[in-house]
Amino acid sequence: MKKILVLGLLISNLLWANQMVYVVNSKKYHISKECRTLKKANNIKAISIENKGSRTACKVCL
Ligand SMILES: [Zn+2]
Repeated sequence: MKKILVLGLLISNLLWANQMVYVVNSKKYHISKECRTLKKANNIKAISIENKGSRTACKVCL
């Protein structure tokens, strides 16, 4: 039972590490590329969440 729990945590950590987020500046990151605050942006960059730096999560698409 404990083994399964640890494995589950490991897998979710891996998934989290591979999560891609979208950024246009150094302030916010977006979970969804379809976020309405990104509609007018033309320089959206997809980065790994590991590289988000000090950006905070966008409240619109979170
Ligand atoms: Zn957003």
